[in-house]
Amino acid sequence: MAQSVLTIDLGAICANWRALAAMNAGQTAAAVKANAYGLGAAKVVTALADTGVRTFFVAQAEEGVVIRQALGPGPTICVFGGHMHGDAPLLRDANLVPMINSIDQMLRHVESLPAHPFGIQLDSGMNRLGMEPGEWSALRDIALGQKPVLVMSHLACADEPNHGMNAFQLQTFRQMTDGIDAPRSLAATGGTILGPDYHFDMTRPGVGLYGCLPFFDARPVVSLDIPVIQVRDVNPGESVGYGNSWVARVPGRIATISAGYADGIIRAMGPKAYVWAGETRCKIVGRISMDLIGVDVSAVQDMPDMVELLGRHQTVDSLADAAGTIGYEILTSLGTRYTRRYISS
Ligand SMILES: *Cc1c(COP(=O)(O)O)cnc(C)c1O
Repeated sequence: MAQSVLTIDLGAICANWRALAAMNAGQTAAAVKANAYGLGAAKVVTALADTGVRTFFVAQAEEGVVIRQALGPGPTICVFGGHMHGDAPLLRDANLVPMINSIDQMLRHVESLPAHPFGIQLDSGMNRLGMEPGEWSALRDIALGQKPVLVMSHLACADEPNHGMNAFQLQTFRQMTDGIDAPRSLAATGGTILGPDYHFDMTRPGVGLYGCLPFFDARPVVSLDIPVIQVRDVNPGESVGYGNSWVARVPGRIATISAGYADGIIRAMGPKAYVWAGETRCKIVGRISMDLIGVDVSAVQDMPDMVELLGRHQTVDSLADAAGTIGYEILTSLGTRYTRRYISS
């Protein structure tokens, strides 16, 4: 079998949620957008609900429908994108709570789904989603009169604890919401770690659940093992892969492993990335192909059947460094060609 094995530890996801929940006094929700950051929404939300998560966040109503099918009635499912044109039947039938982002969305919501629950998203400085202070002051009394289930905003720089933007957004959010009756939420993973000033009534971590920074103490969640298809000797002067971009300078051994950029192994990371054959670190050599990668295994004594790209020796964040990106992008790029194995350790 030439299929790589992606192992997802649901027990570690739940342990990470409990650890983040223990940091704050209010409710701890879970961000499960983009198929639970690529790890499989149905499996992840079922495990999290069993652990005690009562509120889930997705980006789009269509994602919320999938989560509702997995969870059944009961848990609250909120949609960051709010109430978009055409969403009303989805929001109604799957009982989803849109986070209303603008006066236009508010009008659409009260016209098409009067009495259907909603939340409010405010822009406290990120300029991405939510009502700005001026828009909010125009709508505030009417919106609060309809009893939003949540009033939230999002931090732009929470992964940098000393960034002045954090205090600025906190102050802006407070100015916009102090004294209201509705529950408030500002923090994702980074904001949870910033401390109690940022917690309000609910936190909504995502990436920390999946074992990534900025949650330093997270338990790792994913491992990825890739089968070795072929091993060959190379002589000095022989090249490996497309474009002859790597040329052997000494006699060596090259393993060809069965995964590539079609599986989310970002081509740009090639020159800086490693895999592990047992306890031996092996450099990726030559260009990453669509389905195949060359690896220098000259130092390996006993060639294993599989090499590790993610796991005990290499975290999602260290691989992200090699690719010049962030853990979020590595996770959400993980391909559909893997055998996905769910464990609970
Ligand atoms: C994605 C997202 C979250 C979760 O963020 P993490 O950094 O993954 O913890 C929370 N709130 C909003 C608005 C988001 O878009």
